[in-house]
Amino acid sequence: HHESLPISSDPQEVHDLSIEFNRLLRSLNNQVLREHQFVADASHELRTPLAGVRGHINLIRRHGQEHRDIVPTSLDYIDAESLRMQRLIESLLRLSRMDHVDLALTYFNLSDLLDKIITRYQQQIPQQLVRDQLSDTRVYANQDSVEQIITALLDNAHKYSPAESTITFEVANAGDCIQLKVLDQGIGISDQDKPHVFDRFYRADQSRSQKIVGSGLGLAIAARLVDLNHGQITVQDNIPYGSCFIVSLNKTKP
Ligand code: ADP
Repeated sequence: HHESLPISSDPQEVHDLSIEFNRLLRSLNNQVLREHQFVADASHELRTPLAGVRGHINLIRRHGQEHRDIVPTSLDYIDAESLRMQRLIESLLRLSRMDHVDLALTYFNLSDLLDKIITRYQQQIPQQLVRDQLSDTRVYANQDSVEQIITALLDNAHKYSPAESTITFEVANAGDCIQLKVLDQGIGISDQDKPHVFDRFYRADQSRSQKIVGSGLGLAIAARLVDLNHGQITVQDNIPYGSCFIVSLNKTKP
C-alpha cells in the first residue's frame, strides 16, 4: 500500500490486527509448504521412470550387440515410460496453469453437454454408457471445464471397470445445485482410499499393482476445476459394487 498504515492505539484493535496478521502468515506458510511438497512429489514421480529408461539404455549399450533380442523389449519399455513421463509433465503443466485463473462462467444445459460427451465416447469404450432423463438441467459454470471434469470421471470409470459393465450418468435437482452422478460397476474405492483420491499423485495400491495406466493427477485436476466452478465433488460407493462420483454445480450465479 502507498498510504501509511493506520496505527491504532486501541489495544483491542491492535490485538485483532495481530491475530489477523498471524493468520495470514500461517496461510502463507502453508502455501509455501504445499508448493514445496508438490515439487518434491513431482520429482519423485519422474525419477522412477527416468531411472528405468536410463537402465534400459545402458542394457542396450552393454549387451545389445550379443543379445539382439533384448533390444526391441528395451525399446518398448523406453517408449512406454517416456510416454508416461510426457503425459505426467502435461498434467503437471495443466495443474500449474490453473493456479491463478478465473474461469468465465455462463449458463448452459448440462444434459446437452452429457449427450455430446456420451455420443463421442460410446464408440471409444466397451462399457455401456447410460444417462437418465431430466429436462431442466441448466447450470451456471464454465462449459469447457465441466466437459474436462466429466471426461476425467468417465476415463476413470472406463479404466477401473470390466468391459461388460454399465457407466451411468444421473442428473438431479438438489436445492441450489444440479447434482451429476457418475456411477460405475468397477473395482470400487476402499474407505481408506476415499479421502485421498483427489490428492495429487495419489493412486490406490490396487491401481498401481494391476498396472492400470495413470498418473494420480486426473482427479486432482478435476477437483481443482470443480473448485474454479464454485462446485463440489465427492466420492461414494456404488451399490452393490463400483464407485460413484458426485459433482454439484450451481444453478444460478451465487
Ligand atoms: P489415475 O491416473 O491413477 O487414474 P486419478 O487421479 O484419476 O489418477 O485417480 C486417483 C486414484 O483413484 C486412482 O489411481 C484409483 O486408485 C482411484 N480411482 C479413481 N477413479 C476410480 C474409479 N472410477 N474406480 C476405482 N478407483 C478409482
